[in-house]
Amino acid sequence: RISRRLLAIASYVKRGSRVADIGSDHALLPIYLIQQGIALHAWAGEVNLGPMRAARRNVQAYGQSEHIEVRHGNGLDVLSEDDQVDCITIAGMGGGLIVEILQAGREKLAAVKQLVLQPNVGEEAVRRWLVQNGWKLETEEILKEDGKIYEILSAVRAEDAEIGDVYPDSLTLSCGLAVTQDELFQYGPYLIQHPASAWLEKWQSETHKMEKILVNMAQSEQPEAISKREQFAHRLQRIKEVVHCLQ
Ligand code: SAM
Repeated sequence: RISRRLLAIASYVKRGSRVADIGSDHALLPIYLIQQGIALHAWAGEVNLGPMRAARRNVQAYGQSEHIEVRHGNGLDVLSEDDQVDCITIAGMGGGLIVEILQAGREKLAAVKQLVLQPNVGEEAVRRWLVQNGWKLETEEILKEDGKIYEILSAVRAEDAEIGDVYPDSLTLSCGLAVTQDELFQYGPYLIQHPASAWLEKWQSETHKMEKILVNMAQSEQPEAISKREQFAHRLQRIKEVVHCLQ
């Protein structure tokens, strides 16, 4: 049995895809994708030997060695053009690392049609990278499992003109509040328009964390410190306003 998080990621992979799961750990996602007939062929990429061996063992144990290739290496280095990968999944790591992997392997993405990404933190950086590199966010989901909140982003190739459809300069929410494009990157353009309970919980908890940070911020009366505190307080106030409006 795989986690609800991995099930949700799998649900966005288009049926009939050739899928590479990067940072696959025990290869649970590719095994599930092949079992369900969602992926035609799959790769499990792992930079660390321990998880890579576990992936090999698992693929064998499930009798899927013909359909899943486990490869040892960093990020997208494990892929070649001949593989004809349609979809890349990268899950369970920070958004910064996901961006690094995609950026370093940009030339491997030329023929890839879909990216399904699940950053544990730093979702904003992932959304920005997607836009800057010709990808259009197609859907987003947020879910809570075992006390943790996860966001899943699915993106497809986009024409530049389409980007504005997902991230308009400003958007008026159902509660009447207008948010900026920057805020859409922060909150998620789909998530903010249909705020799930996990989304509200995430941003409520963010405000609590920020309140604690603000209390502990340097009490110095240097203009620089004052301005830093004011900026932080302003950001916090704005998040509270958005959450309050959507509650
Ligand atoms: N993707 C699985 C999931 O979502 O359940 C496993 C997540 S696990 C927390 C992250 C995995 O990514 C680890 O097994 C780690 O070894 C691997 N990893 C980290 N950096 C990587 C990189 N640059 N290239 C390939 N794998 C990487």
